[in-house]
Amino acid sequence: MKITEIFKSIEGETSYVGLPCSFIRVTGCNLRCSYCDTTYAYEGGREMPIPSILEEVRGFKTKLVCITGGEPLINKETPLLAEELLKKRYTVLVETNGACDIRALPKAAIKIMDLKCPDSNASSHMHWQNIAYLTPQDEVKFVLSSRNDYEWAKVIIRQHRLTDIARVLIGTASGSIPPKTVVQWLLEDNLNVRFQLQIHKYIWDQQARGV
Ligand code: SF4
Repeated sequence: MKITEIFKSIEGETSYVGLPCSFIRVTGCNLRCSYCDTTYAYEGGREMPIPSILEEVRGFKTKLVCITGGEPLINKETPLLAEELLKKRYTVLVETNGACDIRALPKAAIKIMDLKCPDSNASSHMHWQNIAYLTPQDEVKFVLSSRNDYEWAKVIIRQHRLTDIARVLIGTASGSIPPKTVVQWLLEDNLNVRFQLQIHKYIWDQQARGV
């Protein structure tokens, strides 16, 4: 598999925030979001067989592993990697951008699936059928850049009854809307979703890699 980086850190978002976690960043992405902070994962990387990846992760001694990208699902070997990690009894998170079919992943892998808002310029690429394959362990994430994105997210959450089928996360793109503003909107609307900050960006340098 083409891998951009493997590192140990704490999970900076999702319901697993704050826990020690091994990250496997798969190279390549099929989208080009306006706010992308991992452009370095689009190309390059090193070719690694799955056993070498497992070995590197084993050395970190975490219970949680996050497969991320880029977009991990454009690599055909990602489902097998997830399966092998599950066999080793890790809790496996797979961060996916919502533009690929998630059915290829093992059921026990926890999908953290983006639904890209209009200002990301990637909304039109969403694979909407994925919503039918989500389970209560999975999480759906909206990254907002504007009030317009927020209004869009509200409609999507209500239309698809998302809070009934998965955990719903809302955050902001770096340098866009102040978190306080979004929290006020959420409270005014009584939206039963989890607001999240990417805490790794507060702990380490905003541009830091491998943390
Ligand atoms: S899906 Fe993720 S990695 Fe790909 S362009 Fe969007 S933000 Fe960047």
